[in-house]
Amino acid sequence: MAELQTALTAIRLLRISVRQLFNSVGSGQGVDGGEDNSMTNFPRDLQEFLSTIASRVRDVEQAVNTLEPTPEPFDLPSMMYLGQHTTQEGQAFHDTLVNTYRWIKDVEEKSDVAQTLLNQNSMTRSYLTAGRPVKKRLRTASHNVPPEQVDSVIMTINRLYDDMTITISRQLSSNAVLHVTLGHILKAVIACKGLLIESVVVKGYGESTDLWTESRHEVFKKLTENAYAAMLQFDSPTSPECSVISFMDWFHSFTNLFSVPCKRCGLYLHNFLPPTWRDFDTLEPYHQECRAS
Ligand SMILES: [Zn+2]
Repeated sequence: MAELQTALTAIRLLRISVRQLFNSVGSGQGVDGGEDNSMTNFPRDLQEFLSTIASRVRDVEQAVNTLEPTPEPFDLPSMMYLGQHTTQEGQAFHDTLVNTYRWIKDVEEKSDVAQTLLNQNSMTRSYLTAGRPVKKRLRTASHNVPPEQVDSVIMTINRLYDDMTITISRQLSSNAVLHVTLGHILKAVIACKGLLIESVVVKGYGESTDLWTESRHEVFKKLTENAYAAMLQFDSPTSPECSVISFMDWFHSFTNLFSVPCKRCGLYLHNFLPPTWRDFDTLEPYHQECRAS
C-alpha cells in the first residue's frame, strides 16, 4: 500500500507541474507572475517548468516500477452484480463469495494432489481406488475364510509369544472378535471379518474391553489410532494370513511401551507420552513427533 501511495503522490505532483506550465504559457507570465519582466524571464521560466516536469516524470516511472502487479481478477460473472446491490448486506456478500471461491479452488488443488498420492499407494484398501475394474476391487480372499482356518491362524500366532495372549469369541456372528492381552500393559479388542482386521480398540490393562468405547488414557487412544495405520499398512488381499501375522507382530512390539526410550530423541517421555509409534519395518519405538516423516 505504501508503494501505491508514493506512486499516486508522484502522479499528483506531475499533474500540478503540468498545470502550472499550461497556466504560465496561457497567461504569458513567469514564475513570479510579474508582467514587467515577463518577456525577458519567460524562456528561463519555461525551461525551469520543463526540467521540473522531466524530473517528476522520472519519479512517476520509478514509483510505478516498484508496484506489484495486481492478481488476475476472478471469473465470477453473475456475482459482480452483488457489488451493485442496493442494500449494504447484499454488497457485503461479494467479499465473502470471493473468499469462499478462493477456498474452494484451494481445496480442489489439494484434493487433486491427495488423489494422485493415494493412487500411487498399492496398499490402499479403499473401495474408491480409481482405475481398477469393480470385480477386482471386491475383496474375496481375506473375508471369505472359514472360521476353522481363522482359529488355526490365530492360535498359531498365540503360540509365538509368551507375553501376549489372544482369545477368540464369536458372540455376534461367525466373525471372530479377538481379545488380546499384552503383559500387564494393555489390552485390545480386534474385530475381524474372516482374516481381514476391521477395527481395533486399544485400552489400558485395567480398563473394560469392548469395541464401542475408547480408552480414557491419551496413550491408548494414540495406540488405537496407530493400530488403524498399521491395519492399512499390513493389509494384503493376496495373503491375508501374512497380513494378520505382521499386524500382530507389530502390535506385540508395544510390550516395552513404557520401558524403552525413543529411538530419535532418546527420551522416555515427550509431551507426557511414551514412544507410541513403532516403525512398520524395524519395530523401533518413536514418539509421534519424532517419527520419520
Ligand atoms: Zn522422541
